Amino acid sequence: MEARGIGKSFLGVTALEGVDFTLQRGEIHALLGENGAGKSTLIKILTGVYTRDRGEMRLDGKDVTPANVAEAQALGIGTVYQEVNLLENLTVAENLFLGRQPSRFGFIDRREMRRRAKALLARYGLDIDVDALLSSYSVAIRQIVAIARAVDLSGKVLVLDEPTASLDSQEVEMLFVVLRRLREQGLGIIIITHFLNQVYAVADRVTVLRNGRLVGSRALAELPRLELISMMLGRELQDITR
Ligand code: ADP
Ligand code: MG
Ligand code: MG
Repeated sequence: MEARGIGKSFLGVTALEGVDFTLQRGEIHALLGENGAGKSTLIKILTGVYTRDRGEMRLDGKDVTPANVAEAQALGIGTVYQEVNLLENLTVAENLFLGRQPSRFGFIDRREMRRRAKALLARYGLDIDVDALLSSYSVAIRQIVAIARAVDLSGKVLVLDEPTASLDSQEVEMLFVVLRRLREQGLGIIIITHFLNQVYAVADRVTVLRNGRLVGSRALAELPRLELISMMLGRELQDITR
């Protein structure tokens, strides 16, 4: 996915200006920046929540302008928001195939839906009772269910806005196992997180925004941590370490 010169204002306030962003297949790409940098606005443009004022966006080399979330999904771009967009009082299987219920959407029956839910989650290393209510599972498992649904619906790009905010360290590792598996399958993943340890643990590349502008995009293997912090804060290294 490629975005060039993305600009967006809200009532005259510039949230993004001239931002470029490139995501490769099989890449986990962290999007960083201090509060108000424009991270959420950028991913909302990429996922069809907002429309951009300026700039271009391409997917697999084709110009695209997702007008809404459903259109982005149809193009292959799926999102899991911080407030996981699932229904607690439905079962795991129902959540996975929400809006694609038996009969109406080609499932033979609920048994078939259960079987498909089981098979889908097995790909994520999850062996859980898909007939149990979603609310009976931990945040981490609910999130993996949300990811499984998003990837099943879209399949090229997965966008995660602060997915680790309410997870403990064991759950974070469980999530990262899933993300690495998806990366192996060729998915492009964008992740927003404020934890730099997590960025270095899971991401291949980072794009840094500051005040709505692009600071830079770098491979993490070649980016010392202090330099990354200096990019985010917009201060010279010697000022940070002094
Ligand atoms: P981040 O996610 O990096 O914290 P945001 O993309 O949320 O940054 O915000 C970037 C800027 O755009 C901020 O100044 C914010 O106040 C403004 N902004 C974001 N969304 C809206 C909106 N819906 N209406 C008005 N201003 C907004
Ligand atoms: Mg914010
Ligand atoms: Mg945000």
